[in-house]
Amino acid sequence: MNPNFLQTPIDYLKGVGPNRADLLKKELGIHTFQDLLNLYPNRYLDRTQYYKIGQLQQTNAEVQILGKITHIKTVEQKRGKRLVATFRDETGILELVWFRGHKWIRENLKLNTPYVVFGKTNWYNGSISMPHPEMELLADHEKSLRSAMQPVYPSTEKLGSSGITNKVINTLMQQVFTETKNTFAESLSQPILQALKLLPKNKALFNIHFPQSAELLARAQYRLKFEELFYIQLQLLRKNMLHKAKIKGYPFNVVGNFFTTFFEEHLPFSLTNAQKRVLKEIRADLGSNAQMNRLLQGDVGSGKTIVAFMAMLLALDNGFQACLMAPTEILSAQHYNGLLEYCDKLNIGIALLTGSSTASQRKEIHAQLNSGQLHILIGTHALLEDKVQFKNLGLAIIDEQHRFGVAQRSKLWHKNEFPPHILVMTATPIPRTLAMSVYGDLDISVIDELPPGRKEITTVHRYDANRLKVFRFLRDEIEKGRQVYIVYPLIQESEALDYKDLMDGYESIVRDFPQPTYQISIVHGQMKPADKDYEMDRFVRGETHIMVATTVIEVGVNVPNASVMVIESAERFGLSQLHQLRGRVGRGAEQSYCILMTSHKLSADAKTRLETMVRTSDGFEISEVDLKLRGPGDIMGTQQSGVLNLRIADIIKDSAILKIARSYALQTLQADAGLASPENQPIKNTFAQLVKFKNIWNYIS
Ligand code: ADP
Ligand code: MG
Repeated sequence: MNPNFLQTPIDYLKGVGPNRADLLKKELGIHTFQDLLNLYPNRYLDRTQYYKIGQLQQTNAEVQILGKITHIKTVEQKRGKRLVATFRDETGILELVWFRGHKWIRENLKLNTPYVVFGKTNWYNGSISMPHPEMELLADHEKSLRSAMQPVYPSTEKLGSSGITNKVINTLMQQVFTETKNTFAESLSQPILQALKLLPKNKALFNIHFPQSAELLARAQYRLKFEELFYIQLQLLRKNMLHKAKIKGYPFNVVGNFFTTFFEEHLPFSLTNAQKRVLKEIRADLGSNAQMNRLLQGDVGSGKTIVAFMAMLLALDNGFQACLMAPTEILSAQHYNGLLEYCDKLNIGIALLTGSSTASQRKEIHAQLNSGQLHILIGTHALLEDKVQFKNLGLAIIDEQHRFGVAQRSKLWHKNEFPPHILVMTATPIPRTLAMSVYGDLDISVIDELPPGRKEITTVHRYDANRLKVFRFLRDEIEKGRQVYIVYPLIQESEALDYKDLMDGYESIVRDFPQPTYQISIVHGQMKPADKDYEMDRFVRGETHIMVATTVIEVGVNVPNASVMVIESAERFGLSQLHQLRGRVGRGAEQSYCILMTSHKLSADAKTRLETMVRTSDGFEISEVDLKLRGPGDIMGTQQSGVLNLRIADIIKDSAILKIARSYALQTLQADAGLASPENQPIKNTFAQLVKFKNIWNYIS
C-alpha cells in the first residue's frame, strides 16, 4: 500500500461527511486516516456475555442485554427534557434514558426490532434504567467484526450528543481497515521483531482495534507501546549524537595545579564512589571536543557541590573561567561562602553577584570578569544580565534545574564565542529512564550514594491537636543544644492568607517559647533581602534556636546543628518539596527529626504523600510516588510536555518497555547511524514519515 494513502483526509472516508469530519477534527484532532488508526481505545469491555433483565444484579458493572424497544416517549422535567424508551426481553422491563441528543436518537431508534444494548444500570424505586446506552441492532451486531473485547474509544460530550458514539467510531475503524485492506507497512526491523517476538504491524493494529483474544490484545499493546517509545528514543538519541558531532566545545585537556592541589591537600573528606564516578564522567566530557551538556542528579545532601567545584577547577586549570548559578540569594550566598575558603587557599578569584549587589560591587565584578582576574562567579539570575561579560567562560553550572528553563540555559551559551560546557544539578531526582526521555538533550550522571555516617532522619506525622506534645519535644531538643526549623507553606495564589498563617504561627511560637530563654528567627518572602540575611545569619551562627520560615529555606541552606524540621500544614506541600525541606536536617552528627503537622482533614493523595514521607527517605522512591500521584506533567512543568502526549504508552507505568526501547534505539544507531542497511529500511521510512507529518515533534520540545 502506498504509505501516503494513510494521509488521506478523513473527509474521504466512507461514512464521514463534512459535519462528522469537522467534529472529528475539532474534538479528537483526527484529520487523516492515519490519525483515526492511531486513536487507540482507552479500555476494553468483555462483551461475550448476555444478561437477562430478570437476572440483573444491583451492581455498577456494565452489562449487555438483548431485547426490543416497545415504546418511546419524551418526559418533561424541571431541567429540560429526557427521552425514555421501554426496553424488554422475556424476563423483564428496563428503561433506556437519554438526556441529550434526543433528536438524532429518536429519529434513528427502531421499534420492535432486536437490539443489543450495553451500559450501566441505575436502580430506583424498583425500576431499572440505563442512561445513554450503547446500542446496536442485533443484525449489525452479528455482522460486525467479531471481537472478544469491545474497544472503548476516547470521546467527548460533544461527540456523544452529535451521534458520534463509540459504535460509530468502531464502524469508521472497520471502514479504514476495509479500505486499506489491512496492509500497513511494517515499521520495525526484522531483527527487532524477532528478538522481542513482537506482533507484526498489521496484526498489532488489527488487534488493538478488534482484539481477537485477550492474549493477542496484550501482545498488540506491547508492540505498539514499544514502537511509540522506540521512535521517541531514536529521535532523542539522534539529536544528542548530532549535537555532539556538531557543537564544538573547548577541550579541557589538562588536569592541572588547581585540581591536583585541591584534591591532594584541601579536600576535607574522601569522595564517595558515586562522586568519583560522576567526576570521571564529567572529565571525559570536558576532555572531548564536544560541548558538555550534562545533568547531575543527586539526592539532597549527596554532595553535589564539591563535584561542581572540582569541575570548575578543571576549567581553571585550562585557563577558563567558571560560573555557578543558583535560584535564590540565600543559596548563592551559601555556595559562595562555602567555596570562598577553598578559593582563598588556592589563590582563586571568586565573587558573588546577586540582585542585592551594589553598583560599585557590580562595577568591580564586571571589570574583573572582563580582565580575567576573576576566575569563578557565583550568583543568581543576575549572572544572565547583558552587562556580565566573561573573558572566557568555559563552564557554567546551574544548581536546581527545575527552577531554570531551557531558555535561560541557552542564554548562558551566548555569552561567548563557543558555548561553555554546561552542568545542570538537581536535587529533585526523577527515575533515570524518565530523565533520559525528558531531558533527551542532556547526558545524565547520578550520585546515588550519601556520604558515610549520615543518620537516618526519623519522620513522623502528627495532628494539630498534638501540638503541645510536639512543642514539648522541641523544648527538649533545644535544651540539648539543637536548633529547630518551623516551616509554613507559601502558595502564591493566596500569599496574603499564607502570610497571615505564618504570622499567627509565629506569635503562638513566641508565646510558647518566651524570650530570653528562647531566641527566634523569622524569614519570609516579604522581607527585604538584607533583613532575611540578617535573620538567617543569626540562625546559622547558632544565636537563635528556632527558625520560623516560609519555603524560602527550601533549597540548599546548610546548618548542621539544626536537627528538627517541623512542617506546618504539611498536607499542602508536594512530595518533592517535603523531601527538600526534610533534607535541611540530618546534616550533622545528631539524630534528626522531621515532624509533619496536619489537620484531620486529609485527601487520599495527601495521605499517600505523608505515608510515603514517613516510610522512606530515598529521593528516587519519593519522586516515583510523586510521578504516580501527579503525572509527569506537573513535575517537569510545561517545558518538556513532549512525553505527555503519548498515544498508547505511559511513561511511568511502561518504564520497563521504555528501557528496552531505548537500548534497541541505541543499538540501532550505534550499528548504523544513517539507517542505511537494508534491514533498517522500515525504520528509516517510518522515521521519515513521522518527521514529515510532524507526528514525532509532539514528543520533543
Ligand atoms: P547537595 O547534593 O544537597 O548539594 P552538598 O553538596 O551541600 O549536598 O553536601 C552536603 C554536605 O555533605 C556538605 O556539608 C558537604 O560538605 C558534605 N559532603 C559532601 N561530600 C562528602 C563526602 N564525600 N564525605 C563527607 N561529607 C561530604
Ligand atoms: Mg546543593
